[in-house]
Amino acid sequence: MADRDAAVASGALPPLEAYLAAGEKRGLLWTPLRRRLLELFWREPVVWGAYGVTRRLLKESKAHANSVYRGLRSLEEVSLIAPVHLLKRYLITPDPGRTEWSALLCDRCGDATLRPMPPAMRDIHALAATHGFSVSGLVVECVGQCRRCAREEPRAPPQEPWVRARIPQS
Ligand SMILES: [Zn+2]
Repeated sequence: MADRDAAVASGALPPLEAYLAAGEKRGLLWTPLRRRLLELFWREPVVWGAYGVTRRLLKESKAHANSVYRGLRSLEEVSLIAPVHLLKRYLITPDPGRTEWSALLCDRCGDATLRPMPPAMRDIHALAATHGFSVSGLVVECVGQCRRCAREEPRAPPQEPWVRARIPQS
């Protein structure tokens, strides 16, 4: 909760309503389960695994595991949560208005941060296009050490939208 409050207070995580509106704009029907999933990611911005999410939701309702997995896919399809493929987990996106993200993953403390996809990635699309290849998915995930672990001096928070989360201990 404290993470979410801090993120919202710093302006880093938009209000829940912004995510609901973005999903609706992209054609998502807000079923009670999808909404509950979104609320969970928004209130607890940790890097959720499908199993952990399912276990949490099953505690409070009779949702079937397959329904939860489908719900996660629905939120991913409209880019409200982003998959972190290397961790096989999901993270809420820091800006519901954007659809392409890259991930910075700290292999020391477990920090996972989403940042907007670098503009240079457009070159990948262009390269693929010259080969007649149509890109439907592009994943950029960097593994290394976060600023704190690399012992750098603290700096001002980035200006672009961001979200930082930890892998929950389970
Ligand atoms: Zn770290």
